Amino acid sequence: MSFKVWINGKLFDKANATVSVYDHGLLYGDGVFEGIRSYGGRVFRMKEHLDRLWYSAKAILLEIPYGKEELAASIEETLKVNGIEDGYIRVVVTRGAGSLGLDPNHCSDPMVIVITDAISLYPDKLYEEGLEIITVSTIRNHPAALSPRIKSLNYLNNILAKIEGLKAGCIEALMLNHKGEVTECTGDNIFLVRDGRLLTPPVDAGILEGVTRGAVLELAEAAGIPVREVPLTRHDVYIADECFLTGTAAEVIPVVKVDSRPIGDGLPGPITRDLIERFHKLTRE
Ligand code: PMP
Repeated sequence: MSFKVWINGKLFDKANATVSVYDHGLLYGDGVFEGIRSYGGRVFRMKEHLDRLWYSAKAILLEIPYGKEELAASIEETLKVNGIEDGYIRVVVTRGAGSLGLDPNHCSDPMVIVITDAISLYPDKLYEEGLEIITVSTIRNHPAALSPRIKSLNYLNNILAKIEGLKAGCIEALMLNHKGEVTECTGDNIFLVRDGRLLTPPVDAGILEGVTRGAVLELAEAAGIPVREVPLTRHDVYIADECFLTGTAAEVIPVVKVDSRPIGDGLPGPITRDLIERFHKLTRE
């Protein structure tokens, strides 16, 4: 079956869902996006994702030509026409078609795109056994140059890190910031557990404020697990009892080895497993 794609208020067959080669989203990565999940026909944390989309757009002076309720309705509509209950939603807002120069004033209307598709999941084995990751030499974008809080269409920083990780045989890669502090992985936030406490880098370390990260922080708090958002170094990772990653696609996934060092006893830890279960309940019930 060919999925329909929503573009600026109209549904197109996937094959005909196209944008101009003059679109500044393509020419310059000038635009913003969201990756969202639906579980059992319900969009997970729609409000948080749309808020982040609007903040990203605001930061790059891009006005989204719809209201949040309108876009939410379009997402629901697109899921429905495609018959998707458990799936992945990609919302993209580009600057629109312009001239070949950088000036966004020469762009026509922004293109607002909603793609819904099946979700490609990591194999179950990785959730049971945990991931091995490495720290890569590509540092996260300097927040004073381009804030990692903006979920922009220019993902080269993350892609370069991903390539380094893949070449080393790892599907995720840990990125440091310009100060050598831990930030996040290429498409996931990172958490550590030490002495029963949950630790994660603060937003000003230069990370995307993950929606899944936010959900896990809430779950931990509700479970009585103390949480600290603190600057972390690679050393903190190496001596952690547990480590896991969070993201819309990955959900909560254990990490058992970093830079060849086993984390804790080299198996997914009890707090990680507990939070995986709690996240599962939150999304499926
Ligand atoms: N960091 C980066 C760089 C990401 O791209 C993502 C996922 N899009 C995340 C973290 C996780 O964010 P979320 O939980 O909102 O998917």
